[in-house]
Amino acid sequence: MRRKLVVGNWKMHGSHKANAELLAGIVEARPFGCDVAVCVPFPYLSETAVTLAASDVRWGAQDCSAHEQGAYTGEVSVGMLHEFGCRYVIVGHSERRAYHGETDQLVADKAKAALARGITPIVCVGETLEQREAGETEAVVKRQLSAVIHTLGHCAGEMVVAYEPVWAIGTGRTASPEQAQAVHAVLRAQLRAATARADEMQILYGGSVKPDNATVLFTQADIDGGLIGGAALKAKDFVAICRAAG
Ligand code: 13P
Repeated sequence: MRRKLVVGNWKMHGSHKANAELLAGIVEARPFGCDVAVCVPFPYLSETAVTLAASDVRWGAQDCSAHEQGAYTGEVSVGMLHEFGCRYVIVGHSERRAYHGETDQLVADKAKAALARGITPIVCVGETLEQREAGETEAVVKRQLSAVIHTLGHCAGEMVVAYEPVWAIGTGRTASPEQAQAVHAVLRAQLRAATARADEMQILYGGSVKPDNATVLFTQADIDGGLIGGAALKAKDFVAICRAAG
């Protein structure tokens, strides 16, 4: 049995005050029967690390540079994330792909850089509405994952994969459990062809996961938890989703 994982992606939200309340609400609600993490904006990593250090709630970042160090203004290296105790880093979120022009290969290079520092990359894949309607879902997610599998080589089994259909992100329009499971099964099959660890790997679903749809999503055979946006900003909702996972 794979252990479930629920990750809050705070995106560009937060303040010292809001973070303190949110993190306290999560810590107080422990223990959970699943792995739980929050991926916070860079400036809040320090306070998050201090607040969560004594708990089993993990933390991470929402992006990283593929470079080790150097003249890359505005970028943050995995070495820096490592210094702040990050367990995870999200790479290839559709918002990074769409607004920052991140390519499949850049996403793969970021995942590789993270693993080299012992940080687990949460690699996001997902199709747009246009692509789904054109019947391209499978081809798109396979292409996105394939770049990462090839770049990681024998380490491919160490990543976490997140399927996030772009049309379901922040729209309140969740993929049906059947739609999500179908894509997760495709991704699992692709991973099986690449690594002996495929059946142990966590494949998360993301896109309008809420307390009232989490259970039915998380009970699908190949859905091993969730990557949560909006509902991760309220302790009550995020905790409810964590409970639904285990
Ligand atoms: P929402 O849960 O707000 O749809 O966001 C999903 C997401 O993008 C998580 O990374």
